Amino acid sequence: MILVSACLCGVNCKYNGENNLDERVLKLLQEGKAIPVCPEQLGGQETPRLAHEIVDGDGELVLKGEAKILSPDGKEDVTKEFVKGATETLNIAKNIGAQYAILKARSPSCGFGKIYDGTFSSNKIDGNGVTAELLHKNGIKIFTEENLEEFLNIVDI
Ligand code: SF4
Repeated sequence: MILVSACLCGVNCKYNGENNLDERVLKLLQEGKAIPVCPEQLGGQETPRLAHEIVDGDGELVLKGEAKILSPDGKEDVTKEFVKGATETLNIAKNIGAQYAILKARSPSCGFGKIYDGTFSSNKIDGNGVTAELLHKNGIKIFTEENLEEFLNIVDI
């Protein structure tokens, strides 16, 4: 079973109440091959909600307690909620025996390889979102919608 970002399946769980539908990911769900999760909702956040980014770091530093996740004005700290969402997502991944995850690129939760840099200006830095980092550390192979074709070519599903 594959863990997938719920917003890629058309679930309106994105911060602005919309989704990031990718028909290829929705097809995996419809074929019974995927389980959708939204780490930010699993962490207890409402939808819609403010946009947040990891400031001065990445998911690895957040998990070490060395970086925070803040709103654009810096007043709302949702680090605790993001970490809870990552932990709950890992619990689900373990429960379904997921070896792979397809996650939304660049998100502070789901991004893998590149994430937004914390300035809310669409700039990107190398690094993983909090959930992607925790799943990766626990041996789950992660792809995003941006290299999904690579996944579909190499994985026999
Ligand atoms: Fe939820 Fe991840 Fe999609 Fe954000 S990118 S809405 S945390 S599933």
